[in-house]
Amino acid sequence: MERVFNFSAGPAVMPLEVLEQAAAEMTNYNGTTMSVMEMSHRSKAYEPIIKDAEALLRELMAIPDNYKVLLLQGGAWTQFAAVPLNISTPEGKACFIDTGVWTNKASKEASLYTNVEITASSEADGYTYIPQVSKDMFSEDTDYLHICYNNTVYGTRYTKLPDCGDITLVGDLSSCILSENIDVSKFGVIFAGAQKNLGPAGVTVVIVREDLLGKHRSFTPSMLRYDIQAKNGSMFNTPPTYSIYMCKLCMEWVKRQGGVDAIQQLNERKSSMLYNYLDNSKLFFTKVRPDSRSMMNVTFFTGNEELDKKFVAEAQTAGLVNLKGYRTLGGMRASIYNAMPVAGVEKLVTFMEDFEKNNMN
Ligand SMILES: *Cc1c(COP(=O)(O)O)cnc(C)c1O
Repeated sequence: MERVFNFSAGPAVMPLEVLEQAAAEMTNYNGTTMSVMEMSHRSKAYEPIIKDAEALLRELMAIPDNYKVLLLQGGAWTQFAAVPLNISTPEGKACFIDTGVWTNKASKEASLYTNVEITASSEADGYTYIPQVSKDMFSEDTDYLHICYNNTVYGTRYTKLPDCGDITLVGDLSSCILSENIDVSKFGVIFAGAQKNLGPAGVTVVIVREDLLGKHRSFTPSMLRYDIQAKNGSMFNTPPTYSIYMCKLCMEWVKRQGGVDAIQQLNERKSSMLYNYLDNSKLFFTKVRPDSRSMMNVTFFTGNEELDKKFVAEAQTAGLVNLKGYRTLGGMRASIYNAMPVAGVEKLVTFMEDFEKNNMN
């Protein structure tokens, strides 16, 4: 069967090999004559799946031993509340670097529980870059600084971590986890919904430094408490068993590709193919500054809404699907996560070249 190239921002493309393996194991996992979906999360058959998933993530991201890895439900959105509920104080404050949609939502949610300060913002320039900060911008009562490492909507990305001194750094890595090497030891908390680059929807990964456990607020729901989830090995209640299994298969695939180093090189190659073309095109352009460009979500425009629409429609007919930009931003967005093959990006660039020729007069 020929498959489309799916540029969806999330849920997103998964490696074909992984889907085929899941299909082959669907009704009989490892000789159990059961599907993974049918297993008790506390069974002998399931136990190695969740253990391996955690071990693979630890290996691929080189997560230091003094960090807990939690495999939870609720998506990144739940973490917008869980982070302040776990590490904020009533008298302290949470700082945010405002890079658009995802940090806005996170800071609004945090403001329900603590004081919020927007330390820097690129709003005035349409969120086309990542603003710089320096450690003297943070007062002593700052509990943590929240950043969105890769902004899925605008297509921006940190190419260098913010200078925040000793302040606990919290990273939303939902759309870039496992896409490039990230120094986990620089963060207090990392979280990521799985459905962009890690697997299917349903799992949220939280990586939390141990010294931050137990600092939760008195009214924090048990389900959202990192210390409780850590103590119970992510099995305080039923974890998203099948999604965890799928994430495990995806991480095994990443390992077979040569790990995060090799994947990062591929991602650099795929994204530069698109940016090189965009920088030289007479029709298409990106608004994102060169020092802040995402490798995962490439946003671009023609400057003419009708032409944008025509492009998205014709691309769809050609088997290049889900290229429409985020609803409030317009234009186009090509999400080229780990599982997007080089051939998909090549086909997109060729299609854009042809479209440019046919629509320039
Ligand atoms: C998609 C996304 C979210 C929201 O994820 P949910 O799992 O739907 O809650 C948050 N942050 C970023 C950076 C995202 O890309």
